[in-house]
Amino acid sequence: NRKWILKQRPTASLAPDDLQLVEAPAPAPGGGEVLIRNIYLSLDPTNRIWMSDREQYLPPVGLGDVMRGTTLGVVVESRSDRFAPGDIVLPPDGGWQLYTLADASQTRRIKGEPGVPLTAYLSVLGVTGLTAYVGVMDICRPKAGETFAVTAGAGAVGSVAGQIAAIQGARVVGIAGGPAKTGWLTGELGFDGAIDYKGEDVGAALDRLCPDGIDSAFENVGGPIMDAVYERLNTGGRVAVCGLISNYNDEGPIPGPTDFGRMLMKRLTVSGFIVIDHFHRARDAWSDISRWIAEGRLKWKDHVVDGLDNAPDALGLLFTGANDGKLVVRISEE
Ligand code: NDP
Repeated sequence: NRKWILKQRPTASLAPDDLQLVEAPAPAPGGGEVLIRNIYLSLDPTNRIWMSDREQYLPPVGLGDVMRGTTLGVVVESRSDRFAPGDIVLPPDGGWQLYTLADASQTRRIKGEPGVPLTAYLSVLGVTGLTAYVGVMDICRPKAGETFAVTAGAGAVGSVAGQIAAIQGARVVGIAGGPAKTGWLTGELGFDGAIDYKGEDVGAALDRLCPDGIDSAFENVGGPIMDAVYERLNTGGRVAVCGLISNYNDEGPIPGPTDFGRMLMKRLTVSGFIVIDHFHRARDAWSDISRWIAEGRLKWKDHVVDGLDNAPDALGLLFTGANDGKLVVRISEE
């Protein structure tokens, strides 16, 4: 086996010595287990959170342990009658490694659909899509004619969230870094507006694009960009706090909006959510999303980086915005 272990906890951006690539024999499955050769590894901003010993929703990855990560792979050996070699599966905890030993009862089979790439099951038809769906449909609940704003709007979650809000009839404004990303949002994805936070003043642009204020917001970034949106929320506004990526490389508590009083005065509902609590919505989410894709109303991009060895460097793309769509690493051939 070939795997990345967490050697030391990063204190800022991930540094080359924080993870170590080690070789070990491939494990053999026991009763009720399957051996999986991982094909794709999902890289997520939260990977950086798991490396730190900070307050979080799962235990941090232990020092010396395989780096946690979601994978999609193929069964190569099965000691369970639920799976046969060749089945495409999502193990419960794939990890940054070539082979994963998984409990068959916790492993999900991917049937696959014609024309749908396997990477989609780690992105729009996977946790990314579910995250966007839950944040929009269950927390933001945009109504027709309302204004909906999304930060990291051209990212994997944000771009899907914006399109789902548009399908609900909302006016959608996305905030993203650089003209290529904002152009994609207003061009191909049909957002009503997009703001390049690297090139323009976000507050002034929001005033221009959201003259009637913002009714709901999908927050992926935090910091001053979040504040600019928050300051423009209308009475009864809803915020789905999905992510705060601008702070994941920092230590200590993550600061909130400057004006907490606005929560009271504007009767805001600000809800943090973590997708792992919402798997009961997966069936609805993936069936709606599949239909919207088939109808040509929802688009997505996957960004594939080759080679398990490149996983730590690839993770960095999420923090500079150099990823163009859902970031996955191809660990082995399909
Ligand atoms: P993305 O594809 O959106 O990639 C991350 C993007 O964040 C980058 O491309 C970059 O876009 C933007 N970004 C990074 N650093 C900054 C910064 N300092 N300021 C502004 N923008 C920044 O990744 P995901 O879609 O996987 O994740 C998006 C968010 O959703 C993250 O915060 C993540 O933690 C969260 N998430 C939460 C889940 C939950 O259960 N709550 C589940 C999945 C994801 P740009 O080029 O526009 O700067």
